[in-house]
Amino acid sequence: MEKKQFQAESKRLLEMMINSIYSQKEIFLRELISNSSDAIDKIYYKALTDDSLTFNKEDYYIKISADKEKRTLTIADTGIGMTKEELESNLGTIAKSGSLAFKTENEAKDGHDIIGQFGVGFYSAFMVADTVTVLTKPLGSEEAYLWKSEGADGYTIETAEKETVGTEIVLFIKENSEEDNYEEYLEEYRLKSVIKKYSDFIRYPIKMDVTES
Ligand code: ADP
Ligand code: MG
Repeated sequence: MEKKQFQAESKRLLEMMINSIYSQKEIFLRELISNSSDAIDKIYYKALTDDSLTFNKEDYYIKISADKEKRTLTIADTGIGMTKEELESNLGTIAKSGSLAFKTENEAKDGHDIIGQFGVGFYSAFMVADTVTVLTKPLGSEEAYLWKSEGADGYTIETAEKETVGTEIVLFIKENSEEDNYEEYLEEYRLKSVIKKYSDFIRYPIKMDVTES
């Protein structure tokens, strides 16, 4: 399988995330939940203008699952999913390089942690995970794809199996170090408090499932 390179600016952001230069690591969950919510919004708006689609509220939700034994945190949604091309362009490149420059410049200047106020996006997953996979099936297609990255040296995309439309992001959580606790993101109480802090306004249900070892 061919390994593709991240676009230069994406790589820079990714490296910052991997080295977790930000103190507020917990915001990765806000970013992933907001992406899931956006993806469900997209199906919702499509259903408004497309008679062949019906939007049943109960079918649309976000599900957070933690498995302590596997050390995985999964963020799944029943949103619009991504085509192979969208996977490439959305997760291989960062569109808002302007805001990235603004963020890093200002952060360096006053040392103040302003990242909490800006969307840092998908790559923030790498603050707490050393491997990230994205399994996705786009609306209107029978094919599913698996995107996988172990960090800055690139990503792979392969065809995969997925029954339902939507996206499932799996974070393989880093091991605790002396300075940092990553494993707390496999704990239900911690996940709940982060969700309450940043994602209380999300319009879709956020379900939770934590498997103890
Ligand atoms: P932003 O949300 O600001 O566009 P992100 O880095 O958070 O930036 O996400 C990049 C893009 O990846 C999104 O715009 C979206 O197109 C796509 N994406 C990310 N997560 C999902 C998801 N769960 N379902 C569908 N598309 C997604
Ligand atoms: Mg986002």
